Amino acid sequence: MIRIFVNQVDFNGVKVSGKEKVADMEFVGLDSLVKLPETVDYDLTATQVNGGVLVSGRLEMDLECQCARCLKKYEYNVKCEEVCHFYETGANSEIDLTPELREDILITFPQNFICSSDCKGLCPVCGENKNVKSCRCGDFKEENSCWNELDKLALSSKKKVKKKK
Ligand SMILES: [Zn+2]
Ligand SMILES: [Zn+2]
Repeated sequence: MIRIFVNQVDFNGVKVSGKEKVADMEFVGLDSLVKLPETVDYDLTATQVNGGVLVSGRLEMDLECQCARCLKKYEYNVKCEEVCHFYETGANSEIDLTPELREDILITFPQNFICSSDCKGLCPVCGENKNVKSCRCGDFKEENSCWNELDKLALSSKKKVKKKK
């Protein structure tokens, strides 16, 4: 829980920064192609204003994503540079910032998990990663099907060798 104590906040602003355990932020319903890091970095300032507290600053964390097209793992940096929330203080002596900060992070999540916009993905026929190597599956017509089959065999044995690494 990222929280501030109202009696520690003044008109000059106090720093609220550190690393929060991602597990404590309770992200739910995330895509299976994304793996969350251990912690999220927060660097905030809480300033007393008329009637409440203004919290502003930034949040950052690195996601480990998997490309939906080619299955490659890649890192995606999530950054919220313009966190800004107002809290009415009223009788509260303590304010939990976690729900709003969780929302801030979620809206900057990638919409689709693609390692790069021009990722060519895997060949649906032979499974070759077309970013690395082009295959000839698309080239062969039915009259060449025996060659096509041979190609598939050759490619699948190459793939097995790769897996051993
Ligand atoms: Zn990809
Ligand atoms: Zn292919």
